[in-house]
Amino acid sequence: MILNEFIKETSRNQMISILLKHYKVGNVRVKLKSMKDFAHFNVDAGTLELSTRYKTLKSSQVKEFLITILHEINHAMDAKMFGWKKFKEMYEMEMNLQITNGKDPYEDNKFEIQAEEFGQKMWKYWKSKFKKQNLI
Ligand SMILES: [Zn+2]
Repeated sequence: MILNEFIKETSRNQMISILLKHYKVGNVRVKLKSMKDFAHFNVDAGTLELSTRYKTLKSSQVKEFLITILHEINHAMDAKMFGWKKFKEMYEMEMNLQITNGKDPYEDNKFEIQAEEFGQKMWKYWKSKFKKQNLI
């Protein structure tokens, strides 16, 4: 393992904490978890579960990592705005609606589409910001 190819855990944690504070969801806790997906926002627990594959962040993973974090933060922002109980209901209703329409409950879910657009729109901005701060 070539050490400088990896971004230290402290830098990764710093980036996450800067993002959570910026989007005013600083109460969200982050947990590393072994899982298939890159990340998951646990609306019941208010935790952002992050795949252990991001334990050490490779330079080649930065884009994917930022999009993933921003995507989950967008869910957290919605949960904060509507209240987690209400948000959960709305999310489930949206899933049912897509299923009823013969569509995919995740791929065609408006909350998922919105979160993904948010990540795709914002990651470059944060990449250059974090670069200037020597975090990546
Ligand atoms: Zn999502």
